[in-house]
Amino acid sequence: MRTIVLMAIFLVSTPFFSQSDDEKQLRAIYDKALTNGKAYDWLNHLSNQIGGRLSGSIQAQQAIDYTKKQLDSIGLDRVWLQPVMVPKWVRGTPEFAYIETKPGLTTNVPICALGGSVATPDGGLKANIVEVQGIEDLEKLGKDKIAGKIVFYNRPMDPTKISTFSSYSGCVDQRYSGAAEAGKYGAAGVIVRSVNLRLDDYPHTGSMSYGDTPVSKRIPAAAISTKGAELLSTTLTLNPDIKFYFKQNCKQFDDVQSYNVIGEIKGSTYPNEIMIVGGHLDSWDLGDGSHDDGAGVVQSMDVLRLIKANGYKPKRTLRVVLFMNEENGLRGGNKYAEVAKSKKENHVFALESDAGGFTPRGFSFDCTNENFDQVLGWEKLFEPYLIHMFVKGGSGADIGPLKTDDLVLAGLRPDSQRYFDHHHAENDTFEHVNKRELELGAATMASLVYLFDKYGTITSKKIKG
Ligand SMILES: [Zn+2]
Repeated sequence: MRTIVLMAIFLVSTPFFSQSDDEKQLRAIYDKALTNGKAYDWLNHLSNQIGGRLSGSIQAQQAIDYTKKQLDSIGLDRVWLQPVMVPKWVRGTPEFAYIETKPGLTTNVPICALGGSVATPDGGLKANIVEVQGIEDLEKLGKDKIAGKIVFYNRPMDPTKISTFSSYSGCVDQRYSGAAEAGKYGAAGVIVRSVNLRLDDYPHTGSMSYGDTPVSKRIPAAAISTKGAELLSTTLTLNPDIKFYFKQNCKQFDDVQSYNVIGEIKGSTYPNEIMIVGGHLDSWDLGDGSHDDGAGVVQSMDVLRLIKANGYKPKRTLRVVLFMNEENGLRGGNKYAEVAKSKKENHVFALESDAGGFTPRGFSFDCTNENFDQVLGWEKLFEPYLIHMFVKGGSGADIGPLKTDDLVLAGLRPDSQRYFDHHHAENDTFEHVNKRELELGAATMASLVYLFDKYGTITSKKIKG
């Protein structure tokens, strides 16, 4: 007993290992983020004072002005707007839909137009329904069974996948290409089950493409809530002759001028090596885009502020990039990469946060094995913060166009279980973001940025010999 007490005293009073500089830096970053973070206040403004920020909207412009002003206020070396032309699509008046079991006997169901869809005819569209589990079913059915009807894509997300992003990838082709494909068989329109694991009443929008379908042959596309999809499917099983009615008056306008917002701290030792951290400033219009991707925007802004506030002077040039138009065009990401290439800028590291403001678990990397091994060497540093997921895989849509063999691309990976409850829907709102979880994400990003800045990437070391 006495020995144990003595040992305990010894353990408490004599540190076996003195804290390394890196441990101290990470501790300081997390402390600062959790006691004096700015991300949540910024998100409050973006979400509650501005709201949904669809490309080309007044709100998107307000978000540009607001974030630029905030970046100006944190004392960076340079803040600027990078011009980019973006598509402008507007939803118009709220969509309306019902299932008609018999003439006059109708049940309303919640729908929303998919982003980029054409409108229905003025009086709406009413037709019989044919249900499919995916694009591959169209060929089996053939023109006979599809022409003149509304195709109802009803493949649900696979609940057995632990990464909900994997189950999202397994369904999203219905939303993205469903209308273009069904149009080839003469369908009159498409209704797509919302890409959401939960059964609820929120329709989830998202981008879609008509591919090379001529304008005159484009058919309207809408998402139906998961509960609506279940009801429609059951009703259809009971009576295959039911009709579906929907009306939407969305419209595509000419491209308009917009901007990426960029802020920079010049590197003290290797100013020509550029590291970027970012998220996308635009969002869908149904909610206020708090998780997608207001969270990533404010976390990225706070990365630079935290690093500055801790008195750390980056050796490499550190940029925050708030990309415009990730949701329906990726114009901002493409423009940033195009300008970087034309200026022959040397990007060595890019990190994106675009998977929600939930509790961070780690990062995924798109990089060489050597660079990935370097990251694995830092795992222990992240352990106290319960950051344990370091995997190879995707990074982020906006930073993707920068990809080269040497660049380290990374994506913050928060817990993904609740993300698709909110994704692209009316309930992607501020109250669903937890302040502490958001701040932990910012600190986790800042920590990785600090480590890559201090040690460089394998490639940047090779360049310097
Ligand atoms: Zn996003």
